[in-house]
Amino acid sequence: MIQILENYDLTKLNTFGIKAKALFFCEINSEQDLLDLIKAEQFKNNQKLFLGGGSNVLFTKDFDGIVVLNKLKGIEITKEDTEFAWLRSMGGEVWHDLVLFSVEKGFWGLENLSLVPGTVGAAPVQNIGAYGSEVKDALENVEAVDIMKGEKKVFSKEECEFGYRDSIFKSKLKSKYFITAVIFKLSKIPNTNLSYKALKEYLEKNSIEVNNPKGISDVVSLIRKSKLPDPKVLGSAGSFFKNVYIDIKKLEELKLKFRDIPSFEENGMIKIPAGWLIEQCGWKGKRIGNVGVHENQALVLINYGGATGKEVLDLANQIIASVEQKFGLKLTPEVNLI
Ligand SMILES: Cc1cc2nc3c(=O)[nH]c(=O)nc-3n(C[C@H](O)[C@H](O)[C@H](O)COP(=O)(O)OP(=O)(O)OC[C@H]3O[C@@H](n4cnc5c(N)ncnc54)[C@H](O)[C@@H]3O)c2cc1C
Repeated sequence: MIQILENYDLTKLNTFGIKAKALFFCEINSEQDLLDLIKAEQFKNNQKLFLGGGSNVLFTKDFDGIVVLNKLKGIEITKEDTEFAWLRSMGGEVWHDLVLFSVEKGFWGLENLSLVPGTVGAAPVQNIGAYGSEVKDALENVEAVDIMKGEKKVFSKEECEFGYRDSIFKSKLKSKYFITAVIFKLSKIPNTNLSYKALKEYLEKNSIEVNNPKGISDVVSLIRKSKLPDPKVLGSAGSFFKNVYIDIKKLEELKLKFRDIPSFEENGMIKIPAGWLIEQCGWKGKRIGNVGVHENQALVLINYGGATGKEVLDLANQIIASVEQKFGLKLTPEVNLI
């Protein structure tokens, strides 16, 4: 039997630690729970928000609808051959637990994404990425339920329409499908991805030779812990903004005025790190009341305690305006504004 609660406090369910309430709230512990919920009046008649670890949302006000928390658990190896292993993980599993499960088995593919907060079910939503890897690289299928029809659909990788911090679940099908499970195809043959400069440099500098996925996972975890604020200590949703992609013509224009502008070529486009743009506008380490920009990571907005979602949003808007004024580039939030 599913239980639908009213006026539910969401403060502990978002890593920003923003105080907000949901009109209705329900936890999903089995696929049957989801099918039962879909038939409930409180679900049918209200707007819906699916929630995993709450590490990529900003509540700008109370949520006047139903929040559905994904608690579907279970990880299994469904198939293996000499080269590959297929893992099926339920969506409510903690992402890093899945990474540890896979690297401890010696499977390659998820190690660079170690310690990304949140759940497995949310990982395809924004195609999580870190240290030169994206979840789409190791993903084969996404299982989801059409919440209008109550029907299950298995999405192929192509159908997910993955992009940079983007997928069909963050755009066209936003809030239309509840992701129940994800299937990964992982390599059993060594497949080290050291394309990310900082990772390669760290290994070289510390003379670390890594020939197993657990080793890479440990190093990535170590670097992440030294760089990113722990949401249990300082409320945040990690990078608040996406990096900016421009064409070569725009880069040449910008270089005339900003000779040191960092740029990276990626898939025929030029990436400008959003953190650099924010830092150049003087925001790094700046605090306004209860909110601020992290002192080491200009991309990370912080709740120093007691901040409202509106305060965070106001700060974000001020940053967007100043970057646009100085560089003529428009920052877009990576975080889902609710
Ligand atoms: C300190 C910190 C560091 C971070 N570092 C990274 C990083 O390196 N790379 C990166 O990509 N991200 C990073 N993030 C962002 C975040 O970890 C990811 O976006 C993560 O996938 C969010 O998972 P979640 O379960 O917390 O999702 P939530 O915040 O609960 O939800 C995020 C979005 O997904 C939707 N959603 C959630 N579950 C489902 C479901 N089952 N079905 C359909 N839709 C669903 C929600 O409605 C919402 O729109 C970081 C965040 C923090 C706090």
